[in-house]
Amino acid sequence: MKTLNGIVRHILRSSKTSSQLLNVSRAQSLSTSPNGPWYDLSEEQQSIKELADKFAREEIIPKAAHHDQTGEWPKEIFDKAWELGLANGMVPIEYGGSGASLFARCLISESLAYGCSGIATAIDGNGLGQAPIVHSGNHQQKKEYLGRCTSEKISAAYAITEPGAGSDVAGVKTKAEKNADGDWILNGEKVWITNCGVANWFFVLARTDPNPKAKKSEAFTGFIVEGDSPGLTRGRKEQMMGQRASDTRGVTFENVIVPKQNVVGGEGRGFLVTMGAFDLTRAPLASAAVGIAQRALDEATRYSLERKTFGVPIVSHQAVQFLLADMTIGIETARMAYMRAVWEMEQGRANTYWASIAKTYAADVANKSATDAVQIFGGAGFNTEYPVEKLLRDAKIYQIYGGTTQIQKMIVAREHINRVR
Ligand SMILES: Cc1cc2nc3c(=O)[nH]c(=O)nc-3n(C[C@H](O)[C@H](O)[C@H](O)COP(=O)(O)OP(=O)(O)OC[C@H]3O[C@@H](n4cnc5c(N)ncnc54)[C@H](O)[C@@H]3O)c2cc1C
Repeated sequence: MKTLNGIVRHILRSSKTSSQLLNVSRAQSLSTSPNGPWYDLSEEQQSIKELADKFAREEIIPKAAHHDQTGEWPKEIFDKAWELGLANGMVPIEYGGSGASLFARCLISESLAYGCSGIATAIDGNGLGQAPIVHSGNHQQKKEYLGRCTSEKISAAYAITEPGAGSDVAGVKTKAEKNADGDWILNGEKVWITNCGVANWFFVLARTDPNPKAKKSEAFTGFIVEGDSPGLTRGRKEQMMGQRASDTRGVTFENVIVPKQNVVGGEGRGFLVTMGAFDLTRAPLASAAVGIAQRALDEATRYSLERKTFGVPIVSHQAVQFLLADMTIGIETARMAYMRAVWEMEQGRANTYWASIAKTYAADVANKSATDAVQIFGGAGFNTEYPVEKLLRDAKIYQIYGGTTQIQKMIVAREHINRVR
């Protein structure tokens, strides 16, 4: 099988930069492919899509039910994804990664989530931890921590949320204080951390200015924390409604010593580093939601062609066709939305507005499509023997993590009002 690194390096050898070749061009992003489920892709983009599709078909789909039922973290699948370069797509080539563009990563997320979004999250969760380092880390941090991810089959995690601070990131209470050596002592608790049980290292946001009146853009600092630090304790794996293959836990820090060189982006800049990382991760969350919706449509369409009622396949009933049409409209437009978010970034502009639109919309489309797929399956849709009830359970999280739907709408409203003002 070709590897992602191989495809990207092949492109580089053809003397154009990876961003020129992997990024969606305006023509590509706006022209639809009448027979394909996505927009016209360049040859290289097509190769990346085929690599991820093949991986989903051959490695993920056959094992998805097992990991959903047992909650077992998909180590074997992660290792294979790692070998193909799919687990470190975000990491620049100079640190051993694939150096894939945001667009390439979206294509990959969509395909992997089509196979199983829980397993996709177990693989893509690495990118959450890596994003602040890619965005704001210095060369030494990139070399050590991104390099570690690409030289060993390990995972990273992104630890922001706390029992009292989810949507309200500025409510983070975990604190870090400097000791006499200039290193930091970390105390606090994080919850709902993806990859927590398997993470080799964590990106952690902590309050470093105890003054309650300090500006949020100055009161917090981001740290890289070694997973085997004394005083770091991981909680039990959460029993979740969906995405059960993904490992989500709480973690506590009790007098954990963090070396001064592990401050990411500078003291007091943690809030900005954390928000900046979202520009790299929100569009792939939107594309993963599109992957779930596409799977729901494909399963429902196949079933509707086979299942007969009143002497005809149910696909002949207009009411069923309209459900399929609604799913199709949602998927095509959600895909355009995440491509637009990518396009903004490729033009060197902040993609906050479009990434929030794409994530909110794609999450709703995934939830509606999965619900409608269950409806088309009738009683069978409610049965765990069929694949669609899992899609419904898995889809819900896209309206919650990475910033809830309500928070995304607040961002869109803020950006819109600022533009009008
Ligand atoms: C499976 C899973 C994996 C996760 N992975 C990670 C991870 O890797 N790292 C990490 O740091 N976090 C992670 N999270 C946490 C996730 O980001 C938070 O759950 C999410 O941001 C919401 O925070 P909360 O749960 O505290 O809800 P709350 O903030 O308490 O919100 C509760 C409800 O109130 C609404 N609400 C809150 N404030 C407002 C407002 N101002 N206006 C309107 N409505 C509002 C919300 O939209 C929501 O509907 C994960 C969560 C889950 C469930």
